[in-house]
Amino acid sequence: DAARLSEEIRKMAGASYGRYKSLTGDWEFEDFTLTIDRVQSDPFAPPSRISVRIPADVADMPDHAWHSPVRRRATADYLVRQAYRNLKGASLRIDAGGQEVIERASGRIHDGDVLLRLGIELPGHGRKIDARSAERELCERLPDMVDALRWDALDAAEATAFADTVEDTAALRDQLPALGLVAFAADGAVLPRRSGVSDLPMEGAAVPFESPESLRVSVKLPHRGTVSGLGIPEGITLVVGGGFHGKSTLLHALERGVYDHVPGDGRELVVTRSDAFKIRAEEGRGVERNDVSAFVRNLPTGSDTADFSTENASGSTSQAANIAEALEAGSHTLLVDEDTTATNLMVRDERMQALVHGDREPLTPFVDLVRPLHREHGVSTILVMGASGDYFDVADNVIMLDEYRPYDVVDRARELASHREDAEFTAPAHRVVDPRSVSATSRGKTKLKRRDMDVLTFGENDVDVRGLAQLVDPGQIVGAGLALRVLAEEKLLDGERTLAQALDVLEQRLDEGGVTALGRGFSGDYAMPRRFEIAAILNRLRSLRVRR
Ligand code: ADP
Ligand code: MG
Repeated sequence: DAARLSEEIRKMAGASYGRYKSLTGDWEFEDFTLTIDRVQSDPFAPPSRISVRIPADVADMPDHAWHSPVRRRATADYLVRQAYRNLKGASLRIDAGGQEVIERASGRIHDGDVLLRLGIELPGHGRKIDARSAERELCERLPDMVDALRWDALDAAEATAFADTVEDTAALRDQLPALGLVAFAADGAVLPRRSGVSDLPMEGAAVPFESPESLRVSVKLPHRGTVSGLGIPEGITLVVGGGFHGKSTLLHALERGVYDHVPGDGRELVVTRSDAFKIRAEEGRGVERNDVSAFVRNLPTGSDTADFSTENASGSTSQAANIAEALEAGSHTLLVDEDTTATNLMVRDERMQALVHGDREPLTPFVDLVRPLHREHGVSTILVMGASGDYFDVADNVIMLDEYRPYDVVDRARELASHREDAEFTAPAHRVVDPRSVSATSRGKTKLKRRDMDVLTFGENDVDVRGLAQLVDPGQIVGAGLALRVLAEEKLLDGERTLAQALDVLEQRLDEGGVTALGRGFSGDYAMPRRFEIAAILNRLRSLRVRR
């Protein structure tokens, strides 16, 4: 019990740091169970890991706080954020999210019990145990934090509003397919962020979103009632407008619209189909046996672009591979911004066509493919393109941003459009991953590490993840690494299933088991990745080998 833990810690005062190891195991406090899972070997090693179980009768949450999977995720997230605030200045830490509400291992609700995972830098004076501080952290701050998480100690109205907000967002996103929409941005939403490095809403000067009447859609939500906003229909939507008029800001909000946002974020009612994937050029990435022939043919090197591999893709081939892989993983909604594309894969004007004839130009621009992609493969595209009118020829909707306000300019754009022959888009390749080529181990040990938001080390691979715009939480990077480990070690990649089939099986397990189905035996922090980012990271493993 708690008194025994105090006593044990006091006995260790001044002892060598390694004695902390003897605390490993369960400790029954009056109101909760503390488990010391893993003790760091010295004060400079990564923090020790502990978990806390607050039983349902102590947490005392009303049913409505956790009765559905969505509310459970939201309330757990809320509790973690409260714990995070409560632990400011402590050596205890908990992994709380940013502006998105993403299921994470640090806070879960199971049958009304609250399960938390935390880190603690066990205090030391040099390499000696600092018992006073350790006792204060584990026997005072921790129980205080648990106390503050009881429903009657919380701001119940705020906690409920948090879950209501997330539930509304999820309900809105769920309605998109039936409405024939790929995205929705509510009137009044605040899209711009405080700065390039802060995801908080812009203060003061932000112009609230206001939909053009012709594209305005009303949707009924469980808590807020009816809301109106811009509905972006399936098909090809072009976003145009002068530089600095807010095009990329809109697209960024749509990229993040696959996630739910915290109340006050400004993007709570900006949603995108959950299968949306941001496509960009990513020069230098590797590609393993993919079919990019729709975009690239007759390379001067003579390589077969229907079965294309490279260690070092160009801007255009990397973007083509990103599209092929997104489709292979099951995306039917592509998001593209001119700012991060390879121009030669997007457009080619008439004069260039006259100078460089068809058979000398290996690239088929996206503008010739975007229509067959929709018509024959059901893939919608939202594209920001302020620099070329070529897409007028193929767009179903054209939205112009003018001083951050969207206008429907499709009629005018149609007047300016010309006839354009489509190219042909064959279905994406479905590859079978060689299971031996995906391994989380390096020299016999699991190696899974994240560096900032930049790199995932997975076994022998260092994967550059900076090109994955919808990887928004550090925990998702680790989560994606763990997902790859599950794919490999639990034989979901069995040499028979296609990659998409293996992802289906994984997703089903995560639906049933929650995020912690990813991390058996792993005590660190991680959050739920999407299947598209899991696939994207897999596709960036330099060790990857596939069969077709
Ligand atoms: P574009 O892609 O059209 O060139 P951006 O989306 O990059 O434009 O936006 C340019 C600037 O305008 C950015 O600094 C952005 O934060 C700001 N901005 C975007 N939308 C709004 C808005 N609704 N209200 C105020 N500022 C905005
Ligand atoms: Mg831009």
